[in-house]
Amino acid sequence: MANKKVIIVGGGVAGLSTAIYLQVNGYQALVLEKNSVVGGACMGWERKGCHIDGCIHWLVGANPKSPTYKLWEEVGALSSDIEIFNQDDLCVLDFGDGKTFTMWSNLERFEKELIEFSPEDEKQIRKFCRLVKRFEKINAPTEKPVDLMNLWDFLKIGFTMAGDYYHYGKACKIGCDEYAKKFKNPYLKRWISEHMVANYNLMSFLYMYAHVTSKDGGIPLGGSLALVERIKQKAISLGAEIRTNAEVEKIEIEKGVAKGVTLKNGESLQADWVVCTTPTEHTLKKLLENKYSFKNFDFMFDDRKNYPIYTFTTAVFKVQGDGSKYPLSHKVYFNDGLNLEKSHDSVTFRNYAYDKTLKTPDGCFVVQATLGGNDDMYFWWKDVKEKGDYKTKKQEIAQKLLEIYIQKYPEFSQKVEIIDIITPMTYERYLNGRNGSFQGFVHTPKGKAINKKGVIKGLKNFHLAGQWLLTSGGLPPAVITARFTAQRICKADKIKFKSK
Ligand SMILES: Cc1cc2nc3c(=O)[nH]c(=O)nc-3n(C[C@H](O)[C@H](O)[C@H](O)COP(=O)(O)OP(=O)(O)OC[C@H]3O[C@@H](n4cnc5c(N)ncnc54)[C@H](O)[C@@H]3O)c2cc1C
Repeated sequence: MANKKVIIVGGGVAGLSTAIYLQVNGYQALVLEKNSVVGGACMGWERKGCHIDGCIHWLVGANPKSPTYKLWEEVGALSSDIEIFNQDDLCVLDFGDGKTFTMWSNLERFEKELIEFSPEDEKQIRKFCRLVKRFEKINAPTEKPVDLMNLWDFLKIGFTMAGDYYHYGKACKIGCDEYAKKFKNPYLKRWISEHMVANYNLMSFLYMYAHVTSKDGGIPLGGSLALVERIKQKAISLGAEIRTNAEVEKIEIEKGVAKGVTLKNGESLQADWVVCTTPTEHTLKKLLENKYSFKNFDFMFDDRKNYPIYTFTTAVFKVQGDGSKYPLSHKVYFNDGLNLEKSHDSVTFRNYAYDKTLKTPDGCFVVQATLGGNDDMYFWWKDVKEKGDYKTKKQEIAQKLLEIYIQKYPEFSQKVEIIDIITPMTYERYLNGRNGSFQGFVHTPKGKAINKKGVIKGLKNFHLAGQWLLTSGGLPPAVITARFTAQRICKADKIKFKSK
């Protein structure tokens, strides 16, 4: 085999990483990205002199000891030169009337503070912290996919995590709202049930917090855009070709074999393999024209209750002042509900002063005010847009979020300016993501864990990759599925896979 050609649809982290792994193994990769820049959901941009980081809040694999770090290294995203910011305070919870506590990255400190906050829940708090500790050890397989594992690989997993998997399985089946009932204090109940968006299972909550407490959920300085730029440069240096403004309209198929793609401009491109890293619903319904079924996955599109998505409405502020003494993330509960698809009563203010390398005018810092939601938030915005009220409503909501910010931080009165507003409609337009999602399906107590091979029955020389193939999505699934896809393609072509 020499230089088989692979077309990779989508230039997000999964697409660029797939290109890297395939180039390393002797393929000629062509990445086709519909936007004018690559990165997909891992993005950053500039408004009014301020850099707005559009993605990384925490990155699994940011710690060199983590198994996922190796993959980030392989695709050029992380190296010993890249400084990682490990947050001390993951989030300050502020219920008003002085009722506040902090989710510290130091678990002992957090446990102590929470017991002081709610002595009546001491037993449950200690149990919760023990669970977090246990989850610090749980990692998704990154070396090879299950279908390429041998008996020894399975035994290794069994030996290292057997006891933990029992707790993992249990935490998958209980919702955060259900788990919250174990606590007596109303503020703790509220925190646990609402920290993630509605219907997330406890496992997702524990997994997120445990990666921060184990210092494997830090943030690479330079932000999301710089991380993507490093991956892009690595792909180019290995000889991959990247075309932006190249929207794919459909996959060309002859007698059950993928032969190439047709672009929106009518251009036809041929290849030996086609890999789609685009959101899976878009791939199946649009690019494959709804002609193929993806085993044990299609039904999820029709079951929004058990397979909801996660989305945001965010107002971005430029604030004059020194942000460095304020919390990284401040969740503020307020009294007068803010009406979107439901009455929201909390907002998270995320302060970007931690990263001095992100551009801002002198003496300013950026704050993002975010309301989290699911499909309902998307349908609400869609309706607003169809009625022609989109711009007005965006301004109105951003203005209300600004007022809440000023109430909390009166010292910044007259010093805050709205510089951007992002809604689920933005993510839908930019990513072709399902219902404005930028991640995969939320993992609910009744939803199945997702670990898909990316192969479609009856369609040869074609592969799906990207975050939708693994539970909850996120950046690690993007790079993991890229590696796994390259491994499977190499196996099909009888090539011994190399990672670098
Ligand atoms: C606000 C925000 C915060 C986040 N925070 C975190 C975090 O803290 N930690 C974390 O791990 N993850 C986070 N994520 C999620 C993370 O960004 C994504 O999981 C990851 O980037 C997905 O990568 P991907 O390549 O699989 O998919 P995508 O990024 O969706 O890439 C798919 C690409 O395909 C392109 N495309 C779509 N249709 C077509 C077409 N027809 N033709 C050509 N190209 C097409 C899209 O433009 C896109 O570039 C966050 C995302 C957002 C938006």
